[in-house]
Amino acid sequence: MTDVFEITNKDLLGRTGKLYTPHGIVDTPTVMPVINPNLRLIEPKELKRYGAQMLITNSYIIYKSEKWHDKALQQGLHAMLDFDGPIMTDSGAFQLSVYGSVEVTNESIIAFERDIGTDIGVPLDIPTPPDVPIERAKEELETTLSRLAVAREYSGKMMLAGPVQGSTYPDLREEAARRTYALDFDIYPLGAVVPLMESYRYADLVDVIVRSKMGLGPNAPVHLFGAGHPMMLALAVALGCDLFDSAAYALYAKDGRYMTVDGTYHVGELQYLPCSCPVCSSHSVKDLTDADEKTRARLLAEHNLYVTFAELRLIKQSIIDGDLMELVERRCRSHPKMLSGLKRMMDYSPYIEKFDTATKSTFFYLGPESCRRPEVIRHNYLLDNLDTGSKALITTRKGIDTSGFDRVYFVKVPFGAYPEALNETYPIGQSETIDRLECEARDATLENILGFIRKHPDTRFTFVYDDAWQCPLTAEIEKLATLKKL
Ligand SMILES: [Zn+2]
Repeated sequence: MTDVFEITNKDLLGRTGKLYTPHGIVDTPTVMPVINPNLRLIEPKELKRYGAQMLITNSYIIYKSEKWHDKALQQGLHAMLDFDGPIMTDSGAFQLSVYGSVEVTNESIIAFERDIGTDIGVPLDIPTPPDVPIERAKEELETTLSRLAVAREYSGKMMLAGPVQGSTYPDLREEAARRTYALDFDIYPLGAVVPLMESYRYADLVDVIVRSKMGLGPNAPVHLFGAGHPMMLALAVALGCDLFDSAAYALYAKDGRYMTVDGTYHVGELQYLPCSCPVCSSHSVKDLTDADEKTRARLLAEHNLYVTFAELRLIKQSIIDGDLMELVERRCRSHPKMLSGLKRMMDYSPYIEKFDTATKSTFFYLGPESCRRPEVIRHNYLLDNLDTGSKALITTRKGIDTSGFDRVYFVKVPFGAYPEALNETYPIGQSETIDRLECEARDATLENILGFIRKHPDTRFTFVYDDAWQCPLTAEIEKLATLKKL
């Protein structure tokens, strides 16, 4: 039911929004810190200090625990955890993926989630790992879908999450998303992506997210289950994920690992703390390494939360400013595998273009991937419909003699040709590119010019260009147009 989610601003497939829950409104995108009732590094009620609005815990751990089971039923989950904000519970699907079986049924865990007062509950789905045989992925998906289909019978007024599975088969993910969406859930977690992130398979992760998005309605709130590292948040938000969860802030901290937006350091390898959060501005590396294990884990967990929520604030500001793509391009340069993720994202630009906003503040050329941004595709769609007259000039230099031509087009990297009338509008007017033409930018621009000429076969084109544009592609253009080198 998409009426629980309101989108306030959009950029790419990303959006800021409001998720309405029984325990308050959550500003998205956000990360839900994972709370294990048995191992509380930071108390739930303290989490708001770092920027958390909502948390997630595991109903299966509570269900199985002699210590917590009755207490949760008697006091309710919020009182038991001493947290008055929204709480989501997972169902044991994670334990199922790790241990192969769980001692609970779909019906009984949903009823338990309902009875302990969870805001958003998850049915007992089957998280199919990456790369399994497709037969297994399909079979497990059918089981998941049949469990999802009966979930509403047991959920009462609790909000329900409908996990999207399908392993690493993009077609299956899209089908799973479409069928799950048809069952009508409040949020849609994309499941079993942790193994992809653990092995840095960001290109595959992009496939999973985008193909799932294609099957879901554009307004469906999407939860990237098990993802919460600040390094990949901008990329995932740009692809349309609204909710994340992080056990890593605590697990990494216990292990001495220090998160940054560029990746993870082991605190023992650092001589400086490259962060200005309250922990890092009042402690040295030595303070951390000399501290006892518990204190060090606590301080690192605090830093990990601070850096995660700072990144989310920057992402939200970028969506409002319309420069999320620039942030994604910067973040994806922190690791070659992240760069692979960015390149895969650009493969989906024709899809992203359909949802992207028409006007933004900037278009910064930040590398070859910028040539494939949705704005470049949209600009060339726009040119398809232009009346180009019988004689048209395309020139890389302004101020030359244009007499004798019905139409004159200038050239902007990486867009290609554009009429003077678009000089002030987005993206042509707001685009900043590098001074020296690099070959990827040159080739992308010439490809776009070639496409423009091909789309208008009744016009005789003349292409006037500077020396820097000379390359095999200019010879391609010569087959269709008159060339003049300046
Ligand atoms: Zn810090």
